[in-house]
Amino acid sequence: MTPLRRHRMIKIVATLGPSSSTYEMIRNLFEAGADVFRLNMSHGTHGEIAERHRIIRQVEADLGRPICILADLQGPKLRVGAFANDAEDLREGQSFRLDLDDKPGDASRVTLPHPEIFKALEPGSELLVNDGKIRLRVERCGGDFAECIVTVGGTISNRKGVNVPDVVLPLAALSDKDRKDLEFVCNLGVDWLALSFVQRASDVTEARDLAQGRAAILSKIEKPAAVKAFDEILAVSDGIMVARGDLGVELPVQNVPPIQKRLVRRARNAAKPVIVATQMLESMIESPMPTRAEVSDVATAIYEGADAIMLSAESAAGQYPIEAVTTMNNVAIEVESDPTYVDIIDASRKVEHYTIADGIVSAARELAETTDIAAICCFTESGTTAYLVARERPHVPIIAITPITGVARRLTLVWGVHCETVTGNVERFKKAVINAVRVARKYGFATETDQILVTAGIPFNQPGTTNILRVAPCAEHLIVQSEPE
Ligand code: PEP
Repeated sequence: MTPLRRHRMIKIVATLGPSSSTYEMIRNLFEAGADVFRLNMSHGTHGEIAERHRIIRQVEADLGRPICILADLQGPKLRVGAFANDAEDLREGQSFRLDLDDKPGDASRVTLPHPEIFKALEPGSELLVNDGKIRLRVERCGGDFAECIVTVGGTISNRKGVNVPDVVLPLAALSDKDRKDLEFVCNLGVDWLALSFVQRASDVTEARDLAQGRAAILSKIEKPAAVKAFDEILAVSDGIMVARGDLGVELPVQNVPPIQKRLVRRARNAAKPVIVATQMLESMIESPMPTRAEVSDVATAIYEGADAIMLSAESAAGQYPIEAVTTMNNVAIEVESDPTYVDIIDASRKVEHYTIADGIVSAARELAETTDIAAICCFTESGTTAYLVARERPHVPIIAITPITGVARRLTLVWGVHCETVTGNVERFKKAVINAVRVARKYGFATETDQILVTAGIPFNQPGTTNILRVAPCAEHLIVQSEPE
């Protein structure tokens, strides 16, 4: 039997939660198509997170395939305090006060336990509560209070989230909880860290300093300030998430689709993976069937060439996690076989600056498109060559072969990349080509009569030296005979 591989290029990220925390469910999700598991640090104890992490690594060992783990830090999320009656109804036009008094709230006031926010507010600033369902406009404010008018009413309850879209908040990039969580998940061994509510490039570098190379850094774009500073944030990030949930609260919802398109394009161009997230199959939290509009939304992200699409509550807390992953998998297979998909992907490819490595991956893609090539295989130590090949969005599968397990796991998030670890360093090119052919044939990417492309950097084991492009026949006796040492 051919071992497990995907039959699509885009990757699927599934968030784990109460609906998906057993060995059986996590294994089933992986087999249904989840390539990356997201541990959401906003929910669950460290004990629960560690247990999910342990199970993922067990599934990985049992199935012999690298699995990527993404830990999503909560970030400096603002929340009101508690109410004496747990909840209150706010009416449009009434006044409502936010302050630092830790007494339980009532219909006229509640604590907002973030002194730095009061310093940043101005009369006219807007505060959005509970995902924007309630809107407050600041009338008067001081160092420890804000008197507001309710412009959109609704029920406000204990510890609901607060967004302040039009102000760059003087908040530390990482809260105390984030710092503890970061250390905890890095010690567990995760592959990517997602940073919530990034506002500026320095937020990313701060997290990178703490992670010290133990995980790659992915910036969630969910604030207008991050959209404005996107190029600087992208430059210091390893990957991007278009976090449409908070983005659609902080900005008018109609702004989200064009921002998604722009961010996906720019991240692709920079050869950095980009995830499109939130409400992709929202109705599947309660229904085994998605709406047509949701299917269309998933398809749009695939046509845009995103590296990955993400499930949140659908897989973490919904009733149909497997069906949600299966739906994404099926939509991806269908869209990627549409000739229009190929046209759109080809038309959106753009490389502004050429290095030798850029030239080699571009030549590999052109050769694969114009001749009979079954797959492009790259040997990579740092992952760089695989990111570059993926940026080309070639029409054939990409196989990344690496001696480093952590690199294989990280690359699992990247468009089109099938990862395989080889034990020990690859020292000789001939051995590397034989390895590439074996992997291509083992997973059914190529047969004996096919040929594949092999890219590598010689001398081996020096990251960033991609300088070889070789056409290799897949009949083993031919490579063994013809390959130079
Ligand atoms: C989002 O806001 O879209 C998002 C992915 O963040 P979270 O799920 O952490 O709120």
